Amino acid sequence: MYIGVDLGGTNIAVGLVDEDGKIVHKGEAPTGVGRPFDEIIKDMAHLIKRVIAESNYKLEDVKAIGIGSPGLPDDEKGIIVFANNLDWHNVPIRAELSKYFDLPIRIENDGNTAGLAEAVAGACKGVDNSITITLGTGIGSGIIINGKPYSGSHSIGAELGHIIVEVDGIQCTCGNKGCWERYASATALIREGKKAAQDNPDSMIYKSVEGNLDKITAKTVIDAAKEGDATALELFDKYVYYLAMGIITIINSFDPSIIAIGGGVAKAGDFLLDALKKKVDEHIFYKDVPYAKITRAELGNDAGIIGAAMLGRLI
Ligand SMILES: [Zn+2]
Repeated sequence: MYIGVDLGGTNIAVGLVDEDGKIVHKGEAPTGVGRPFDEIIKDMAHLIKRVIAESNYKLEDVKAIGIGSPGLPDDEKGIIVFANNLDWHNVPIRAELSKYFDLPIRIENDGNTAGLAEAVAGACKGVDNSITITLGTGIGSGIIINGKPYSGSHSIGAELGHIIVEVDGIQCTCGNKGCWERYASATALIREGKKAAQDNPDSMIYKSVEGNLDKITAKTVIDAAKEGDATALELFDKYVYYLAMGIITIINSFDPSIIAIGGGVAKAGDFLLDALKKKVDEHIFYKDVPYAKITRAELGNDAGIIGAAMLGRLI
């Protein structure tokens, strides 16, 4: 058995996971950002103990603990170099958690843990090379090469959301301009939806929120596009175009067997995937050679716990 910790800015989720990536039991506690680091780790340790105690297993059954963290974790040093939404800089997470458990502890970026989860137990099961893309507030990404998460020589790779798709484009939180996530995340779809609704009060986007633009979500826009609303369709097509350009860059760089798409926007299902596949097909470099299968990620919110736990299987 393995423990997987999905460390987030709002909650810490912990799961006891078996060899095949199946969650046996899980629990959650507030992260309580702003408190001293050692207090948060103490809560994490208690949550791990509680999850094990509530299951039919014992601590002796656990082979390792894996942690999926936002920001930039450095597994070699056992530290989190920085995590903006936790306000952490160079925190010795492995050393601190080791005060409570005499077990191997692995840390990995949460995009990569989501990718590992899909590779072991989800949409990318059975292939060696896969990439999982999460379309949410930003764009998360997990690169799995030969069954292992890849984040480069300095742990700063696997940030596909920051591929630049528009030179001197929209300002990104990373300091650059024109990053993929400024154009192809849920946030981008909402931003463009608000703009379009404001300019087109006759559109279904505007009408479905009764003019209250703050209520516009990615779903508002996609639902209107599904209904054939011209304004929504126009911006959906543009969204898909940007999404496809990033996917093509990924195919050109990595040529994975599968690209799994997750996150809130992926709930649009085949409506999004079919449009995306069509656009990728139009613009792909090699026309006569097979390329990555594009499919929906399968594990949803559990991917964080499962992927973190599966880090233990790689030891
Ligand atoms: Zn960026």
